[in-house]
Amino acid sequence: MSIPNTAEIVIIGGGVMGASTSYHLAKRGFKNIVLLEKEEYFGTGATGRCAGGVRYQFSTEINIKLSLQSLPMIEQFKEELNQDVNYKQYGYLLVATNQNEVNKFKHNVELQNKLGVPTEFLTGDKVRKRLPLMKFDDALAGTFNQKDGTVDPNSVVMGYINAAQKLGVQTISNVEVIGINVSGGEIESVQTNLGEIKTRTILNVAGPWSSQIGKMAGVEIPVTPLRRQMFTTNPLKEIPEDFPFVIDFSKSLYFHREGDGLLIGMSNQNEKPGYDQNVDENFELANLEAAIERMPLVEKASRASHWAGLYEVTPDAHPIYGATDVKGFFLCTGFSGHGFMHGPISGKLMSEFILDGKFSSVDVSTLDLKRFKEGRLIQEYNVV
Ligand SMILES: Cc1cc2nc3c(=O)[nH]c(=O)nc-3n(C[C@H](O)[C@H](O)[C@H](O)COP(=O)(O)OP(=O)(O)OC[C@H]3O[C@@H](n4cnc5c(N)ncnc54)[C@H](O)[C@@H]3O)c2cc1C
Repeated sequence: MSIPNTAEIVIIGGGVMGASTSYHLAKRGFKNIVLLEKEEYFGTGATGRCAGGVRYQFSTEINIKLSLQSLPMIEQFKEELNQDVNYKQYGYLLVATNQNEVNKFKHNVELQNKLGVPTEFLTGDKVRKRLPLMKFDDALAGTFNQKDGTVDPNSVVMGYINAAQKLGVQTISNVEVIGINVSGGEIESVQTNLGEIKTRTILNVAGPWSSQIGKMAGVEIPVTPLRRQMFTTNPLKEIPEDFPFVIDFSKSLYFHREGDGLLIGMSNQNEKPGYDQNVDENFELANLEAAIERMPLVEKASRASHWAGLYEVTPDAHPIYGATDVKGFFLCTGFSGHGFMHGPISGKLMSEFILDGKFSSVDVSTLDLKRFKEGRLIQEYNVV
């Protein structure tokens, strides 16, 4: 495998962000784009390990606006890129079990409705009626939006990679970025294990590893890798075809249909930051117990598979888009557990920013790197 000596732009990371941005840049006619991925296959970082959930249900205007652009792009994916992505619109049902959550949920539904998302507020009884296989005696309320659902991450990544290749993007896997040369505050080149690429522009879309890439350029990026894990079950014939993506909010416990079985996950609130991607078996047991409590039928299920991946977490659970103090060094990272669904629009936004110097599709200029130093944080509540 060889790498080119020069590039107009080097995109570091072949997950959903790198794949989507390279496609959107190439679609605009940008030439000599090089995408580098350290693993053998594209989309095997956070993207390939994610739960595939896509939703409009967020608590901040900016995240809802990102979904309002990104999810229709996923609906149009087959038409635009000739790739089926298996978008199942069975809805997300978020369940509140304490009054604080009920109040937040009410506020979120109002905000979502105001922005044109028809999320419904459900009473506890309605939650129980909608989920007869689950034990939600303590449910006080819920929220449901039919157009939320699940999508296959690999199909989205490969749809973009294949289309980008056809448009001339050089997508290279099995190559690791090991250094970045900066001279006089400007990007000069990228060092890889296969040699150097001269370039004036780099996009850092290395997800959970993006702070490491930042350090290579002397830029501090407050993105922390945090392990999250899940398991799937063998077929459970009781699960109806339209079973929604259910989130037991206070426990960060979630269930959705995966094939003919279930995918079940829970966030470990005591997880320490780090790059370990092995499954924590003890926590998996805690997850299983919590799942059985909510859905007794899980007890008779057997595990089909399990895996762990890394969230790329920022202090305010919102992404970072745009420029840095190093000229030519751009960022699109820090999606804090919900980046897959915002991959399509984020790639488009980065193509706008790199080519036009501004974000046109959604104004994400407040989600810049400087906000952390300037104390302009915007907290997202709907993080799972
Ligand atoms: C368990 C789990 C569940 C999730 N569930 C959901 C969900 O339901 N819905 C949702 O929207 N989001 C979800 N997410 C979040 C989502 O997966 C991420 O926000 C999103 O995939 C980030 O995409 P990315 O392209 O930035 O990062 P990645 O997919 O991690 O891509 C970055 C790539 O950079 C490569 N790389 C790193 N360092 C180097 C280097 N030095 N040289 C070359 N390449 C390098 C990596 O190998 C990797 O492939 C989940 C995440 C996890 C871990």
